[in-house]
Amino acid sequence: MDTPYDQLLPGVLYRTGLTAADYDEAIQALKDAKTQSDHPSDGCTVCGDSGHQANQCHHNPLLMARRAVMASNVWRCYHCNAVFTNHAEAETHFGKSENEVARCLQRKAAE
Ligand SMILES: [Zn+2]
Ligand SMILES: [Zn+2]
Repeated sequence: MDTPYDQLLPGVLYRTGLTAADYDEAIQALKDAKTQSDHPSDGCTVCGDSGHQANQCHHNPLLMARRAVMASNVWRCYHCNAVFTNHAEAETHFGKSENEVARCLQRKAAE
């Protein structure tokens, strides 16, 4: 019998806590993702859905960890709150070294 939708446990990446069972489930998901190359024309080896593969699956722990790293790779100016998502943009605002004054402060000083 299928479990009713509202009683399904969310995937391990979407739960809190870090139990031994959570680690086992994440490790299994990684192992399943690793086998995708042996099944290139099948559905996702992680979640079993068709229409995508393990390298696009939001249950693939490695893929989701990398996305989280990318998402947290941001620079926020604590003077003006501007957010920069790449090094070049950040450098334009903050300068090349810590001795430089942020552009927003230069602008303020000029006013
Ligand atoms: Zn999937
Ligand atoms: Zn600023």
